[in-house]
Amino acid sequence: MQEKIKVLIQLQECDKKIETILEKKNQGPSRIKALQERLKEFEGNLQEKRDQLDRLKKERRDTEREVEDLEQRKKKSQAKLSSISSNKEYRAALKEIDELEREKGLMEEKALELMESIEELERACKEAESEYKKLKAETKKEEEAILREINALDKELAQLQEEHHRLSQEIDQGLLTHYNRLKGRKGGLAISPVIKGVCQTCHMGIPPQKFNELIRGDDLMSCPNCNRIIYWGDNEQFKDLVNPQPPEEC
Ligand SMILES: [Zn+2]
Repeated sequence: MQEKIKVLIQLQECDKKIETILEKKNQGPSRIKALQERLKEFEGNLQEKRDQLDRLKKERRDTEREVEDLEQRKKKSQAKLSSISSNKEYRAALKEIDELEREKGLMEEKALELMESIEELERACKEAESEYKKLKAETKKEEEAILREINALDKELAQLQEEHHRLSQEIDQGLLTHYNRLKGRKGGLAISPVIKGVCQTCHMGIPPQKFNELIRGDDLMSCPNCNRIIYWGDNEQFKDLVNPQPPEEC
């Protein structure tokens, strides 16, 4: 009986490892997706800056055209001055020239401000572009690392599956079916140690007489509470077979 228990414990340890590896492996695609989304978001922000830059450049060109236009109109008005004979008309024309000059001044100021904004945004764009390049390279590296990790997990998985196959063949069919059924129903754990009369999985006590039977180890026994296959956890032969639970990853 002890040999059977040993194989079952090893099988369960193997199953647990396989489960852990599959979980890790399944995180791969979502980790890659998160990396790509981070890059995409950055790309979107960069594009927004570029669009804003294009808008400002266009506005500056429009403003400069307007300055040019005002200058032409002012020149025309100035040229007309010599042909004006009436004082009233002359004053009106001067007023108009003044007004055009003032408008032109405002437009020139606006063009200057736009120029400053453009220069500032151009700097920001350049910076963001180089950051984007860095992030892109970094993302590629991180993606490759994840793929390498998945590759390594696949290899480990293949080894474990081989071990699982080997162990499965050491158990008679009936017991294996019983184990698999329990595993499916009991959240992956089909076999549980009992220490000091307490089932270590469901934490319920075993009647003393049953516990003595378990220590003798003549028959295959089940926990009266959770129905899992049980074995005496303080038996030195079994202790080394169980891997300590890995610490929870943050
Ligand atoms: Zn139990």
